[in-house]
Amino acid sequence: MQNRWSDEEADGLSDLELLVYQSRLLGADPGLVLWGGGNTSLKVTEADFRGSPISVMRIKASGSDMKSCSTGDFPALRLDDILPLFERESMSDEEMVAYLGRCMLDPRSPRPSIETLLHAFLPHKSIVHSHADAVIALTNNASASRVLEDAFQGAVGVVEYLRPGFALAKRVGEAARGNPELMGVVLSNHGLITWGDTPRAAYDSHIELVARAEEYVRKGLRGASTSGGRARRALDDDERRRVAARIAPTLRGLVGSSSRMVLRYDDSPAVLEFVDSARGKELSAIGPATPDHVIRTKGTPLWAGVDASDAPASIQAKLRAAADDYVAGYTRYYEAHSEGSVPMLDPYPRIILVPGLGMWSAGRDAHSARVSGEMYRHTIEIIGSAEGIGGYASISPRDVFDAEYWPLELYKLTLAPPEKELERHIALVTGSAHGIGQAIAVRLAAEGAHVVVTDLDQAACQAVADELNQAHGDGRAIGLRMDVTDEDEVKAAFEQVCLAYGGLDILVSNAGIAPVGALDQLSLKDWQRAMDINATGHFLVARQAVTIMREQGLGGSLVFVGTKNVPSPGKDFGAYSASKAAEVQMAKVLAIENGEYGIRCNIVNPDAIFQGSALWSDEVREQRAEAHGIPVDGLEEFYRKRNLLQASITAEDVAESVLFLAGPRSSKTTGAMLPVDGGVRDAFPR
Ligand code: ZN
Repeated sequence: MQNRWSDEEADGLSDLELLVYQSRLLGADPGLVLWGGGNTSLKVTEADFRGSPISVMRIKASGSDMKSCSTGDFPALRLDDILPLFERESMSDEEMVAYLGRCMLDPRSPRPSIETLLHAFLPHKSIVHSHADAVIALTNNASASRVLEDAFQGAVGVVEYLRPGFALAKRVGEAARGNPELMGVVLSNHGLITWGDTPRAAYDSHIELVARAEEYVRKGLRGASTSGGRARRALDDDERRRVAARIAPTLRGLVGSSSRMVLRYDDSPAVLEFVDSARGKELSAIGPATPDHVIRTKGTPLWAGVDASDAPASIQAKLRAAADDYVAGYTRYYEAHSEGSVPMLDPYPRIILVPGLGMWSAGRDAHSARVSGEMYRHTIEIIGSAEGIGGYASISPRDVFDAEYWPLELYKLTLAPPEKELERHIALVTGSAHGIGQAIAVRLAAEGAHVVVTDLDQAACQAVADELNQAHGDGRAIGLRMDVTDEDEVKAAFEQVCLAYGGLDILVSNAGIAPVGALDQLSLKDWQRAMDINATGHFLVARQAVTIMREQGLGGSLVFVGTKNVPSPGKDFGAYSASKAAEVQMAKVLAIENGEYGIRCNIVNPDAIFQGSALWSDEVREQRAEAHGIPVDGLEEFYRKRNLLQASITAEDVAESVLFLAGPRSSKTTGAMLPVDGGVRDAFPR
């Protein structure tokens, strides 16, 4: 653990800026603080709303992330109002939250950390609290008291495990006030608190104590493998990923039966070492690293004991059995501790460990799946360290339950914004680097979907994906080169999707071309190319999508971008109209074959979309203008006037219809064809 404090950088900062600087230093080290964990505070004098100087504590807001925090993330609370609470015997969580709400200097500030009293009851100016891995390895230990004494030699006080709240804050306050020589307090199965007269002093003590814990762990490990050595032969990288992609949709179905999850796959060396170790299963069942982890990882992961070299069907059967066992075990745990006081949360795991393959983490989106996965990677690290110095131990199932069902945490969940229409969904849009496909990708992402952008040009796909990630958060889109006519490339791309997100809910099959020419003039090559892209391409992507959707068992939606030319073909568009008719006929058969799996299949028929479209090349424009006997620059106007609404049709108009057919609002519609053409009488579906 490195001390990263720089006097040069800290020079000239105000109190509040120093607090931000200190917090960001702590947040930048994942060995100390993960995603919203930990907190810091500073007691200062500020002016109240009348301009009178008063003592306040600036403390990190609940849920804000230290590594990216700013001054707005530290609400100020009046200390004169808080300090008398130390004399109380007890205080409920609800009363505490309501009380603290009234102590805020600015009522519009974000809500202060639920560990606020822990900071307030300590007499020191600056307080730092983290869930440092190395310290947790010492406290989550079968020999915790010996190990803590050996490592810290009396420099810290130790407070027995209690859920955060008034009682824990009071105990910590008492421990510190009675022993002024202490550098900090270790919270059993939770973390470390240090203090100082300045942000630098509290930070220095923190780093020093964590470094001592790390050194102690290092000596204990002595380079030995602590999880019993490798138990099985590892697959090579390609084989492992192929099998992982194959079974991911089954897993996604198993953990998503009450609400869909996005799955993140992790086969990093540390994870593989753990799942392949002789004692991995036993160690993973002991319990969480801290109560903070429970919200993200549940108390224990699902351990699916399969042989990765078995046939996929046998692996899938074993996964189903393991998931059933997990749900039954979770239900027993809930029933043993809830006494009917709260409804059961979903009983599905957030972490799935599979020997030979690695780990999947589940979340409502790619970001939360990533957070859960990172938290469990740190748990693996902590377990390994603890095993070297006495043996990993955790809190009791009762304490796990109290952490998981803590009303304050459950309340936080209710503050999350309402879910969007396609949240938790994964969509793949072909031909989406430009034009209609791009507009569809943008629209689906705006409604919460994770979007896979595919096209022929990898860089262009990535550019669209980057924009979506910029707008909606990291991990929300990926860009993949995929030639829809290349069977191997299509298979490989869908494998990538399963590795990135765990499966697929929506396919928008859009990629297409529009060759022109009278049939008696058309070369076989041009005819064949139209068939390859406009017919076979749709078949290849639909086949992969349907296979994944059936394995998930969560239903699904396929939307095909057809054309007005299917019901109303045009002169010189023979190859186009015939190949698109094949696409549409196939789409109808897909609807027939997949209804029993809850997979819907519908078609949109656009007409005359000029904006950003690759279909309307200069050649096509000239040719169509000639066919209609009008100048090229009059073409768009000609098409506009041709439809009943006399409307120009845009890519966004098509995207809106695709959104409707892709999402739950059209849940009872399959096999349908929806024109987006401003009304063309000849093209009315019938
Ligand atoms: Zn904490």
